[in-house]
This record gives sequence, C-alpha cells and structure tokens, in this order.
Amino acid sequence: MTASRNSAVGEQGSADSTEASKPHKSVKSSKSARPESRLALVRRARRINRELADVYPYAHPELDFENPFQLLVATVLSAQTTDLRVNQTTPALFAAYPTPEDMAAADPEALEQLIRPTGFFRAKAKSLLGLSAALRDRFGGEVPGRLEDLVTLPGVGRKTANVVLGNAFGVPGLTVDTHFGRLVRRWKWTAQEDPEKVEAEIAALFPKSEWTMLSHRIIFHGRRVCHARKPACGACPIAPLCPAYGEGETDPDKAKKLLKYEMGGQPGQRLRPPSDYPGRPAAPLGAAE
Ligand code: SF4
Repeated sequence: MTASRNSAVGEQGSADSTEASKPHKSVKSSKSARPESRLALVRRARRINRELADVYPYAHPELDFENPFQLLVATVLSAQTTDLRVNQTTPALFAAYPTPEDMAAADPEALEQLIRPTGFFRAKAKSLLGLSAALRDRFGGEVPGRLEDLVTLPGVGRKTANVVLGNAFGVPGLTVDTHFGRLVRRWKWTAQEDPEKVEAEIAALFPKSEWTMLSHRIIFHGRRVCHARKPACGACPIAPLCPAYGEGETDPDKAKKLLKYEMGGQPGQRLRPPSDYPGRPAAPLGAAE
C-alpha cells in the first residue's frame, strides 16, 4: 500500500471526524418501523462490503504462513487466542517440524512446550499430532483442497477448513469467527447464532467470489473499530448504514481513541505482513513493545 493510502487510512479517524461529528441517521430510525425488504437488505449488505473494501483495501489473513500446512496448523492454534500470539509462536514450531511427517513424529511433550504460549496446548498438540498423522497416512503428506476432506482431520471444523480453502487454495469461503458473527448480527444481516446457519444466510447475500475478502474485511472491522464491548461508532465509516449505530461510543474524539491497530497507529497481528499493509509489523515473542 502506498504512503498516500497509508495516511488516508491513518487519518480515517480524523477524516471521519468531520463526517462523524454530524449526528448519523441510523438505518433503523430513517426507515421508521417498516421491516427491511430482502432487496433492501441485499443492497445494504453489498454497500457495506464496498465501503469496507474502500477502508481496508489491504485486508488480508492475519496469520503468517508460507504453505497450506502452515496455515492449517496456525489456524488450529488460533482457537481461544490472538493471531498475534500464534504468529509469535509458529516460527520456532515450523523450524522444528516443517512437514506433516515431521510433526506427526514429534515428541508430544516437546510439541506441547513449543505451542504452550497459545494456550490449551495439550489439546492443541493432540490435534496437531492427529492431523499431521492423517495428512501423512491418508493424503500423501499434502493438505487436501476440499472441504469434505479437511473436516475429517482431527481438530478441523468448517471455520478452519474455510480459512485454509479461501487463503491457501483460492476456493471461496466464509470464515464465521467471533468477530464475523457479532458484526453481521449488529448489521441485521442475520439473526442466527449458530455459525453454520450464519454462514448459509450470509453466503446467500453475496456472490461466491466475494466470500473470502468479505470475511477478511469484516474481521478487520471487528478488530479495529466495531469491538465487542465498546464499538467506536463515532469513528466508524459505515455508521450511516448500520442499524446498531449508537451501541458504542458516538462522540468522535472519544471513539477515535478506541480504534485499534493501524487505524490507531498500532501494529497489526503479523510479524511478516503483506507489502501493502499500512501499519507496522508486530514484534516477535518477548521483544519489548
Ligand atoms: S462501530 Fe458502531 S456504527 Fe460501526 S458497525 Fe459497529 S455498531 Fe455499527
């Protein structure tokens, strides 16, 4: 990403503060009590996607990986922890066990110690040993590129499978993680709580070709602006399209202080971000911030 885009994004909070200082009309209030038609919902959903594409043209998977096996392992490790913590843990892990064959033959205790910083390390080590053995024994040491095969691997559910398919194989997939679920419900794209039902309802609103990037944009927005506890509504570029505007801080200056990562001048999650990433790379494990 160019420096000009960098500053445009960096200034998003302040650029928006002129806009955000005007009271936003929420979707709900501007449309009285009438329920939104299906057509209007599809249009609004796609408009939000376009706005997010404008704000985050550099949206990307936030796990460092160099091949499908690394992405699969990193995604399994990312349960119940941050992508940053996973990225700080995987360099030593992949240096010790570069292939499924190597990892399948690992000493369980040595593997546990290497992944310990990601939490739940015993269960995760079991999954990694199991999935590596399954890749070695059933898939010729390669990660399969089909959902129905991926979900047969130990510790791999639909979410993990879709991350791997979308980002290592170019097969469109929606990643319904905690951010994705929270935001699409705030936007009233769905009322479902079950991730599989959420996935099906959101899939029906967009062409397949959008699924992977839509997931990255939503997760980026959830991490940076629309937080679980204190969404930064007053600094949110899609506030005029959001039925939940006002659920968080609406004062533009206070909201700007809630922005995270590059929008607040902070590093993202990756130690090796893509070249167009406008923020600073994250620091390795143990480095002084
Ligand atoms: S930050 Fe506020 S306005 Fe923006 S998407 Fe979240 S709830 Fe809606």
